[in-house]
Amino acid sequence: MALEQFELRLQQVFKPTPNTLHLEFIRTDAKKLNFIPGQFITLLLNDQKGQLKRRSYSIASFPHEEKIAIAISFVKNGFATEILFNLKIGDTLKAMGPAGRLVLQEESVKRYILAGTGTGIAPYRAMLPILAQRMQAHKLQVALILGVQRREDLLYGKDFIEFAAAHPNFSFHAQYSREMGMPLQAFEHQGYVQTSFIRLKLNPQEDIIYLCGNPNMIDQAFKELTETYGFATSNIRREKYISSN
Ligand SMILES: Cc1cc2nc3c(=O)[nH]c(=O)nc-3n(C[C@H](O)[C@H](O)[C@H](O)COP(=O)(O)OP(=O)(O)OC[C@H]3O[C@@H](n4cnc5c(N)ncnc54)[C@H](O)[C@@H]3O)c2cc1C
Repeated sequence: MALEQFELRLQQVFKPTPNTLHLEFIRTDAKKLNFIPGQFITLLLNDQKGQLKRRSYSIASFPHEEKIAIAISFVKNGFATEILFNLKIGDTLKAMGPAGRLVLQEESVKRYILAGTGTGIAPYRAMLPILAQRMQAHKLQVALILGVQRREDLLYGKDFIEFAAAHPNFSFHAQYSREMGMPLQAFEHQGYVQTSFIRLKLNPQEDIIYLCGNPNMIDQAFKELTETYGFATSNIRREKYISSN
């Protein structure tokens, strides 16, 4: 089935971290976008030659909200980066979607490990309300791992810290790839996303793992999870952030 196309108008924009932009849109047809948390939209952008380029962005807002929020990392000389980092309130863009299979499934699971680097954390933010429901209804545990360079890069960190404080079955693990040189709080750790795998004592029979963001992180983590930890590939769900054309 063809994906729905619509126009978005920028309503709000801010810089949650030095290298990212949080953008909030509404549809100009005033319709609500029905999506499953974890899905993405695709922006339809024209280059200077009038050629269509597609760039996808995970939806970071909650399904019940009218606004559609995305977070974009700054990519030097990036085509979409140039457009989105210069967008003004009221500007419009063409988009289509939602799409994507990095969504929570109807399944019986003891623990979800949700790991992302940078803006790869956005789909998990959209999942927070449904995770809250599921943790209340079942004995589900959720560990969310966010890999960034430094503390200042923790995208939506405050949201996850507050959510963890309100939900005992949810834990938040920040992984810093750069040496911090200052005392770390209980949720902060030095090293890559994979460092958290050791601390969380992964169980390939009980855990289901989601990986999102940097393709290198995903490939390395996937190799480690299947070869070292013995995870079945069906228990690892991945979404790599790459440009489509
Ligand atoms: C399903 C899906 C969901 C996505 N969700 C998000 C999201 O929520 N937030 C987000 O920021 N991006 C997301 N992406 C990536 C996004 O679609 C673009 O690829 C990204 O914004 C770069 O586009 P660009 O046009 O600015 O750069 P391009 O013009 O495509 O790239 C310019 C140069 O930078 C390199 N490059 C591209 N991306 C990166 C990068 N991330 N880091 C370093 N170098 C890079 C390219 O190889 C190229 O050499 C997603 C991708 C997919 C497939």
